[in-house]
Amino acid sequence: MKKELLKNFLTYVKIDTMSDEESTQTPSTQKQFDLANILVEELKQLGLKDIYLSENCFVYATLPSNIKGNKESIGFIAHMDTIPGFSGTNVKPNVIENYNGKTIPLNGIELNPKQFPFLKDLKGKTLITTDGTTVLGADDKAGIAIIMTMLWHYVTTNEPHVEIHVAFTPDEEIGSGIEHFDLTKFPCSYAYTMDGGNPQMINYENFNAASAVVQFHGLDIHPGTAKNQMKNASEIAIEFHQMLPKEQKPEYTDHYEGFIHLTHMEGIVGEAKLCYILRDHDRALLEKKKNLLKEATNFINKKYGKDTASLQLKDSYFNMAEIIKENPECLKRAQKAMESLNITPMASPIRGGTDGARLTFMGLPTPNLGTGGYNCHGPYEFACLEEMETLTKICIEIAK
Ligand SMILES: [Zn+2]
Repeated sequence: MKKELLKNFLTYVKIDTMSDEESTQTPSTQKQFDLANILVEELKQLGLKDIYLSENCFVYATLPSNIKGNKESIGFIAHMDTIPGFSGTNVKPNVIENYNGKTIPLNGIELNPKQFPFLKDLKGKTLITTDGTTVLGADDKAGIAIIMTMLWHYVTTNEPHVEIHVAFTPDEEIGSGIEHFDLTKFPCSYAYTMDGGNPQMINYENFNAASAVVQFHGLDIHPGTAKNQMKNASEIAIEFHQMLPKEQKPEYTDHYEGFIHLTHMEGIVGEAKLCYILRDHDRALLEKKKNLLKEATNFINKKYGKDTASLQLKDSYFNMAEIIKENPECLKRAQKAMESLNITPMASPIRGGTDGARLTFMGLPTPNLGTGGYNCHGPYEFACLEEMETLTKICIEIAK
């Protein structure tokens, strides 16, 4: 199994699938089809049914159950794209067998156990690193390799399993792909995204998220004659920002603490603009954060006149926990699969969103499992083959 897994993984990471956040199309880059087409071919060779590649670059396929009368149906999902911020072109994976626990040099940078202490726990394992010049793309090609190897296992052994649906999706990294997911091509009770870290992790809590844009309208007058007349929009924007609680910034928060994060500012005397993102695991606390912005806007308008500040709030995504807790079978099934392999499941809240969170709100409960990939989104990214193997076994157990 390990050999198949490594072969799959090395094939996928060498294909450039970088997404592009500037694009308004799905997929954001045509090269994501390069991987999609390979996966379609491999799924055909494995003999899967209902293989479908959509014009938005979603791959769907089904492995029907080989148990007579079994009606269960479970899905597995991984994304094909890599992060736009760092090169995914010409990836040269570096396979290190029996890792000695020491620093790994990579073309001018290094994977140092002092900087990444968890490397020590991986001594003796097989690591796959970058050459220091690109991402590896273990996020999320490790997820794809795990799913494909699980399918290969069931097709080659014919061990009994439930109906398995798989989907490979574009543009997860830019957060815009999943709205094109076609649930009619993915008829299962629940699914798992394979897009996390170590094998014990189950993620089913993520942020509730909203964004805010505050526009300030000033009155631009020659500064020489401005007394008692000028309304400097930039000054008012600064005053607005200072009213927000300082401790609720990302740099001062962790675990379950939410934040209000200033992502962009611009201003002249006549006009100014502040952009924020708001995050909280607790939906009531997210509403409180929205109210803080509303109150600050009202204060500014009372002080400087009606319509000086205008606030636009928009919800982005919600915490899937509220739905998963009402549909706990997907969690129980993953926990049981781990326990049967002597792995103690651990839940950890995601300080971000997932495609699974959006799918959950579209009606398909979808917690997230690990991939054995680490340090994603940069040249320090690497994967541990034995952990990928463990995750493949977890998927096999889940589908059993
Ligand atoms: Zn990912």
